Amino acid sequence: MSASEKPVGIAVLGLGNVGTEVVRILDESAEDLAARVGAPLVLRGVGVRNVSDDRGVPVDLLTDDIEALVARDDVDIVVEVMGPVEPARKAILAALESGKSVVTANKALLAQSTGELAQAAEQARVDLYFEAAVAGAIPVIRPLTQSLAGDTVLRVAGIVNGTTNYILSAMSDTGASYDSALADASALGYAEADPTADVEGYDAAAKAAILASIAFHTRVTADDVYREGITKVTAEDFESAKALGCTIKLLSICERITNGDGQESVSARVYPALVPLDHPLAAVNGAFNAVVVEAEAAGRLMFYGQGAGGAPTASAVLGDLVMAARNRVQGGRGPRESKYARLAIAPIGVVPTRYYVSLYVSDKPGVLSSVAAEFAKREVSIAEVRQEGVVNEGGQRVGARIAVLTHRATDAALSETITALGDLDAVSSVASVLRMEGAGE
Ligand code: NAP
Repeated sequence: MSASEKPVGIAVLGLGNVGTEVVRILDESAEDLAARVGAPLVLRGVGVRNVSDDRGVPVDLLTDDIEALVARDDVDIVVEVMGPVEPARKAILAALESGKSVVTANKALLAQSTGELAQAAEQARVDLYFEAAVAGAIPVIRPLTQSLAGDTVLRVAGIVNGTTNYILSAMSDTGASYDSALADASALGYAEADPTADVEGYDAAAKAAILASIAFHTRVTADDVYREGITKVTAEDFESAKALGCTIKLLSICERITNGDGQESVSARVYPALVPLDHPLAAVNGAFNAVVVEAEAAGRLMFYGQGAGGAPTASAVLGDLVMAARNRVQGGRGPRESKYARLAIAPIGVVPTRYYVSLYVSDKPGVLSSVAAEFAKREVSIAEVRQEGVVNEGGQRVGARIAVLTHRATDAALSETITALGDLDAVSSVASVLRMEGAGE
């Protein structure tokens, strides 16, 4: 064996959906991977909670002592696919501090602790790769950090959570309620027993934080991301969406915002939004993910594919692993964390979006003009209004429903308008307020 063929020792932490596939590909593609890296990748051990001889991996490779596995002298790269923030954070820090490169798929950890991890990687001059943390198999981290390194990214908007996209697609296709679409998603294994992280938008917010940090060279954490989940989206919202030529998607949006004084800030936000049917994200259905990047010189780029699942996620992990191993063999390092721009985080109140507002009102003359006046008072410009009668089961007209589509307005102006509308005697209820994305001004 020549010096350049000295094996690269790998420890894999986690043998679940992703870890099992990582270990399988490492074994089945060993020869190809060795040729691509310039040295064999040798699996030194796999960290799990339960060591037993029926896990499809030689039992002598399994250990529940994560600390000892990471500390082994013959481990050069640690692949973390365990999951929870702890003990993953501790294991990754220990690996980095002892000069080992790390590949991780752990979005929750990265969205909280990128700074700490990046600093440890920097001090030890090793790699920290995390392509699999956002949108599974879809290459989006590397295009943003490397392919677009010479461009100015303006906006990154994506569907990055397969569970919620599955639920919303089912509601759109069948007219089902949120509860029934969630129950179906759970029965088919698309939603976890506790779906909170997905349906309340926490998972999408973690990914938005990672994307915004990279796109805008600014450290953004999950706490900086404005977040609304999909639990309040109704079948009636989908009917309204259809009438407007739209569908509803849970979007993660990262945007460079420039105020009137020319000052730039970063907005990172997650919410369900109306998306016009001719927008590329409207066609992303089921458990698929997609990310649309808009850059000054490149224009619009779209990345689409499987955003989760053992094998697709393992593909992204293996891609990172080959990069990290090549750097070990050939010398050099991957890109460091880039946070030089240090842009401020824009509060949601200043972020301009279009809105759809639907109200139940009493069926009297002058109601429409009093509703319109509340929008005008706060300089929320109306693009379109529809009014239709509401009839009871006996066919009697009992009120009206007014649907308003606005031009772009700030969240603060719209929120004030909604409060004022709710206080009007003629308004019996505000049925829904939805943002609209991707439909121009
Ligand atoms: P999973 O199926 O729940 O597997 C987790 C694995 O980690 C299990 O093998 C478990 O051991 C091990 N583990 C957990 N806590 C441990 C501890 N304290 N000590 C030792 N071992 C521990 O998870 P997964 O779906 O593969 O996801 C792994 C990571 O990838 C997560 O960070 C997830 O967010 C990320 N990710 C997953 C996907 C996906 O589609 N699944 C996509 C993108 C990113 P036992 O088997 O012994 O219980």
